[in-house]
Amino acid sequence: MKVDLVVIGGGPAGLAAAIEAKENGVDSILVLERDRELGGILQQCIHNGFGLHRFKEELTGPEYAERFINQLKEENIDYKLDTMVLDITEEKLVTAVNTTDGLMQIEAKAIVLAMGCLERTRGAINIPGTRASGVFTAGTAQRFVNMEGYMVGKDVVIVGSGDIGLVMARRMTLEGANVHAVVELMPYSGGLARNIVQCLNDFDIPLLLSHTVTEVRGKERVEEIVIQQVDEAMQLVPGTEKTIACDTLLLSVGLIPENELSKKANITLNPLTNGPDVNESMETSIPGIFACGNVVHVHDLVDWVTEESCRAGRSAARYVKDELTSGSGTLSTTPSSGVRYVVPQFIEPNNIDGNKLTLMFRTDAVYENVRIVLMNNGTRIKSVKKRHMVPAEMESVLLKAKDLEKITAGEISIAIEQEEAVLS
Ligand SMILES: Cc1cc2nc3c(=O)[nH]c(=O)nc-3n(C[C@H](O)[C@H](O)[C@H](O)COP(=O)(O)OP(=O)(O)OC[C@H]3O[C@@H](n4cnc5c(N)ncnc54)[C@H](O)[C@@H]3O)c2cc1C
Repeated sequence: MKVDLVVIGGGPAGLAAAIEAKENGVDSILVLERDRELGGILQQCIHNGFGLHRFKEELTGPEYAERFINQLKEENIDYKLDTMVLDITEEKLVTAVNTTDGLMQIEAKAIVLAMGCLERTRGAINIPGTRASGVFTAGTAQRFVNMEGYMVGKDVVIVGSGDIGLVMARRMTLEGANVHAVVELMPYSGGLARNIVQCLNDFDIPLLLSHTVTEVRGKERVEEIVIQQVDEAMQLVPGTEKTIACDTLLLSVGLIPENELSKKANITLNPLTNGPDVNESMETSIPGIFACGNVVHVHDLVDWVTEESCRAGRSAARYVKDELTSGSGTLSTTPSSGVRYVVPQFIEPNNIDGNKLTLMFRTDAVYENVRIVLMNNGTRIKSVKKRHMVPAEMESVLLKAKDLEKITAGEISIAIEQEEAVLS
């Protein structure tokens, strides 16, 4: 089979990219999704709060996804469900399998990677103890409870206070479970402030900051867990051990971009994001292979996934029509003091869409009254005042035409500076 564009993953990233590519003149598009329906992880996120930026409305995950699924169908874009992509090559040959077509090979002119991310598991953080049942990732529990109709436990402890952990604390409570605590290693929560209020405070669920789980106990099923405080250096504080009787431990300890297929195509991965390096067009190191959404870097809001994925879809359309200069470009971005990573990592100025470019990044800690400062070859290009920044929220800086004019070849660094330092 031959198509112009194959989109791998039918979550919000894949849907937006496919729709945008179609609207930009690509007719032959195929979306491949391994799940039984389109929509990705949004189908299990039945709480509200999606789409505030994109639609100025508070939608649930399935409602947000539905708008794009409907549009995909109205645009007559082909898709295959229950279809797992097994392999991709640098030559853009896609191997996929399902029960109706069997094993298929698809030759594509361009590919958009939109496979989302994986949750870190117990093995990834090495919690000692017995291998009793009742330990789930929060996302798996969310799918069981919200989509499959199974209750995963009655007495629950959650590790990790990112948004998924917080949302699941509320969900499990509403379903009748007793959530004893949300345990967080860091001295601050990894979730949005509104979720701490609406998911924990409103239900009197304690948030134990600077704490971790040091042991799981139980024979067949989890019977209790041991938690312990950590100091500023993340070392366990002796004598602070506490035992909590519970039957379920939910882990919400981080997401990692799903990069197995990217590795197969020899795409350069970024050690800071764990996703592919991309340029201003969301093109990876392999010409004609684009990436967007959580497969590139983990987003906190789906609205930004959609925005980034539209850019990938438009760029893929330009590539198919031979209008894009591929390559890593003449500029690179570098995270500097206080910044964990920057996306995109490379910029080809000729390709910049609409004469403006958004750089996305995350901070490495909580910052108050600071400036985001962009430098290029020793020259300050832009400086933006910020009252409050937290690692849980993705930050961005918009470079407009007048900012771009100041940039010459080389490196653009992004740093966080204290306000006083800038003013003195
Ligand atoms: C458990 C969990 C809960 C979340 N909750 C929220 C929330 O409440 N609010 C929020 O704003 N964000 C939430 N997020 C973040 C959320 O992932 C993003 O907002 C958004 O869904 C990312 O979109 P995506 O399309 O990049 O990835 P996904 O939505 O994950 O979609 C990726 C799709 O690719 C498919 N896929 C992967 N590999 C293959 C393959 N080899 N072949 C075929 N198909 C493949 C997957 O089945 C999936 O449908 C959550 C993330 C997770 C993991």
